[in-house]
Amino acid sequence: MRKLSERAFAIMAVCEETKRYFGITVDEDGWDQYRFMWAFKIDKDKGKKEGYDTKTVTGSVTLDDEYPGCPYCGEKRFYICQCGKIVCYHGQSRVTCPNCGQSGTLERVEKIDLKGGGY
Ligand SMILES: [Zn+2]
Ligand SMILES: [Zn+2]
Repeated sequence: MRKLSERAFAIMAVCEETKRYFGITVDEDGWDQYRFMWAFKIDKDKGKKEGYDTKTVTGSVTLDDEYPGCPYCGEKRFYICQCGKIVCYHGQSRVTCPNCGQSGTLERVEKIDLKGGGY
């Protein structure tokens, strides 16, 4: 694992397939530029206690070469729900967020395809 900067933090994510929560270690490359470094299993309560659920990313995201993807389903693609959670994405056109229950169609699929973009 690459060395993290002092601006690194962790956020909560949720797997749409297994409905389980996990954490993502995020480093900041620059203003609104984030890099997903690592993913790890954590339960929702623990993540909350650690304050991980108070943060989210807004801006462009790149994946580090070593980023392993979701610890449950192995998926590296994701979308950011309006509730702020990162949710595994498996290419389907209609998604339901396991965290807030919101469902909808993703219109800007190309932007969640890990290439960054102004999500
Ligand atoms: Zn998953
Ligand atoms: Zn949500």
